[in-house]
This record gives sequence, C-alpha cells and structure tokens, in this order.
Amino acid sequence: MKKIVVLTGAGISAESGLKTFRDSDGLWEGYDVQKVATPEAWQQNPQLVQDFYNMRRRDALAAKPNAAHYALAELEQQYNVTIITQNIDDLHERAGSTNVMHLHGVITRSQSSLNPALTYPIEGWELKMEAMCELGSQLRAHVVWFGEDVPMIIPAARECQQADLFILVGSSLAVYPAAGLVNYVHYNVPKYIIDPKIPDINRIKNLIKIADKASVGVPALVRQLLTGVPR
Ligand code: NAD
Repeated sequence: MKKIVVLTGAGISAESGLKTFRDSDGLWEGYDVQKVATPEAWQQNPQLVQDFYNMRRRDALAAKPNAAHYALAELEQQYNVTIITQNIDDLHERAGSTNVMHLHGVITRSQSSLNPALTYPIEGWELKMEAMCELGSQLRAHVVWFGEDVPMIIPAARECQQADLFILVGSSLAVYPAAGLVNYVHYNVPKYIIDPKIPDINRIKNLIKIADKASVGVPALVRQLLTGVPR
C-alpha cells in the first residue's frame, strides 16, 4: 500500500468555523498569542490562559468536520495515511481518520504543569483552575505553546521521510519546526499544496499547487487518488 503523509494547518478547519491566525493579522480569535500561548503568559496570568483555551475547546467541540476532513478519512480505503496536524482541534478524528499525529497537542486533553507527559481527557469544555494532576500540580491545556519543545516533531519527520506522496493543506508554513517537515520528504515525491494563498516554497521540487479552499481542493484530489481520474 502506498503511503500518503498529509500535513494540515489551521486553514483546513477554517470552513468548520475555526479561525486561522494569519488571516486575522497574527491574532488568534482577537488575542495576541504572546499573552495567551506562551509559558510566560501562563506564569503571569494563568486564569486568562485557561479561559482562552476553554473558549477554544468550547468552539472546537461545537464545530463539525468539513468536506476536507471527511475526504482525507476516505483516503484510508486505498492508502496507508498519516495525518500530521498542527491543529489542536480533533476534527480529523471525528471525520474518521485513524492515524493522526497532533504536533501541537489537542484541546480535548489536559496536561500536568509539572510533567507534560501526564495527559488526561477533559469532560466538556471547561478546565477549572482547581483541577490538579496526580502530582498535585495545576492542569493546563495539552497544547504546545510558542517557545516550548515539540516532542512529536521527530516521529513526524520520520513519517515524512517514508512518504510516497505528500499533501499540505491550509498552512502558511510560518510556524517552526512544523514548517520544516516538508524538507524531509524525498525530492522525487509529488507534493500537493492546497491553499487559496499558496505559501512560498518554490525551492521544493515536485510541487503541485492547487489554489483552492480545502473543502473544494481536498475532495477533488482525493477523488483523483481513489479513482485514477484526473481532477
Ligand atoms: P496559519 O493561520 O498560519 O495559516 C492558515 C493558512 O490557511 C493560510 O495559508 C491561509 O491561506 C489558509 N487558509 C485559509 N482559509 C483556508 C481554506 N478555507 N482552505 C484552505 N486553506 C485556507 O495556520 P498554521 O500554518 O496552521 O499555523 C498556525 C498555528 O496556530 C498552528 O500551529 C495551530 O496550532 C494554531 N491554530 C490552530 C487552530 C485549530 O486548531 N483549528 C486554529 C488557529 C490556530
């Protein structure tokens, strides 16, 4: 079975109603990321950070997968598919994808503020300040903040090295180390990019650019890959 590796960013969830960063002037739902998505922000104002992720969790739980998430799940009928997502929502899993790596964590889980390896499911949308891990430390959202290590980057790079086909959907490729993953894909491997604003990676060989919204471009490409009929 051929191996397809798909790297997704905030753009794939935009049509499910979850806003991206770069389309909103570098703000995330109106917030400066330095104030809500860094270890310093957590030190200075843990309540604000907790509230911010509670709102993101509430929105993500209310959102539904769109045609792009569902189409990627269908690819598993004929391919060995790995989805590497930068998103903290769980829309790929809810659409039926079974092999999803969350580079930046997932909003439906909490983690210990002492040991990031201790993670727990969250019931509902609210993580309360009094919620503690088994070590007695404050629970925070299981997300990777700017300035923190990205433990999944090495397994993700290994997946990219093994890809027979690579698809990038809805990412500005402005956030590292995720943006560097495309460099691990063999230069002979076809690399599809689906984004209304294609990021500038012309140095990469074998690019096929599809300047469409995810809900249009992804199902069309998946149809082509499953039936062999060109888009
Ligand atoms: P980004 O905001 O930097 O870039 C979004 C990209 O999506 C842009 O290139 C834009 O042109 C494209 N886009 C917009 N609408 C689209 C559509 N309908 N179809 C396809 N593409 C579309 O996103 P990023 O590169 O993922 O980096 C942002 C970081 O912010 C990520 O690391 C992620 O953790 C976090 N984030 C996550 C979510 C989420 O979980 N849904 C939402 C916002 C931000």
